[in-house]
Amino acid sequence: MIEYENLAKLNQPFFEEYEQAFKDTLQSGWYILGDKVKKFEMDFATYCGAKHCVGVANGLDALQLALCAFNFEKGSEVIVPSNTYIATILAIVQNGLQPVLVEPNIETYNIDATKIEEKITSKTKAILPVHLYGKVCEMNSILNIAKKYNLKVIEDCAQAHGAKFKNSTVGNFGDFGAFSFYPTKNLGALADAGAITCNNEKLAEKIKMLRNYGSKVKYFNEEVGFNSRLDEIQAAFLSIKLSKLDVINNHKRSLASIYQKELNENFIKPIVQEDYFDVYHIYNIRHEKRDKLKDYLLKNNIKTEIHYPLAPNKQKAMMGIIDKQLTPIAEEIHQTTLSLPVSYFHTTEDIYKVVEVLNKF
Ligand SMILES: *Cc1c(COP(=O)(O)O)cnc(C)c1O
Repeated sequence: MIEYENLAKLNQPFFEEYEQAFKDTLQSGWYILGDKVKKFEMDFATYCGAKHCVGVANGLDALQLALCAFNFEKGSEVIVPSNTYIATILAIVQNGLQPVLVEPNIETYNIDATKIEEKITSKTKAILPVHLYGKVCEMNSILNIAKKYNLKVIEDCAQAHGAKFKNSTVGNFGDFGAFSFYPTKNLGALADAGAITCNNEKLAEKIKMLRNYGSKVKYFNEEVGFNSRLDEIQAAFLSIKLSKLDVINNHKRSLASIYQKELNENFIKPIVQEDYFDVYHIYNIRHEKRDKLKDYLLKNNIKTEIHYPLAPNKQKAMMGIIDKQLTPIAEEIHQTTLSLPVSYFHTTEDIYKVVEVLNKF
């Protein structure tokens, strides 16, 4: 059986270092927001090329706190791609803001920058691009539009740790980069964890307050804050894994390049563009008979996933919120996309096997 993901196997190369980190942290007697969190924040800011990084409890909180930091008036509009994971939309809704869906480009699966301006109104306050599957969005166009209309930009980097356009790494283009370290992400912890990157000291300070009950000085509260703190033990694990993130990303890229080269023309493969360094959190193909293809692969002992089976505006939870916004391109992607094995533990042999079976479909 070729699994889609196996977190024990993925983390196997780090076991010894993790065990040592666990012992150190246990003995330190300090378990939340301490030296290990500070170290990871510095390491990750450096990795992204950002001035600041603030660790938080998970990726949804990272998005939510980033939006909260701007104190937008309730009911303000935030531009977001119509084909994203529900967390991106939830962060907007939980802030009392209105998601305005913009369709993706059918080739990159990322928000179509040419369709953003027509959705901007006097209520629009921010654009929330998602670097889906590990590919950077068209940030030059997005940033130009943001400048023209005086909008904030928050990048959802949950699937794109280390992804680059030219020499710029995600988390560095907009006002904030929001990261998830959910265990399956390219940089994954052993529990929920997240972070926010930014280049503005005042905004970084604000996020630090918001994550810790709105206080800078213990027991004195300046903001209506949250409890969204990062654990020392997860920060210690993340620092270890961060030192191998380039190795992990390059491994995933080399697996993706096998699919890219060997899969036949029956499948729509992800686009590869000059200047884009994609990190393939997900390697997806598209096919009209997607469900049959998934069954066929499973019968041949290959597990796959669908990211995602149902578009956000079709979700029950989103009735009355975004269900009236029509998104045929997002739906087309949701109906045809299939995610293939592309984990750090997979070998090139695994991928050649998947290719062989796929090409006989
Ligand atoms: C994983 C993910 C999130 C949410 O991260 P959590 O840590 O699970 O809260 C947000 N956006 C995208 C695009 C994601 O893939």
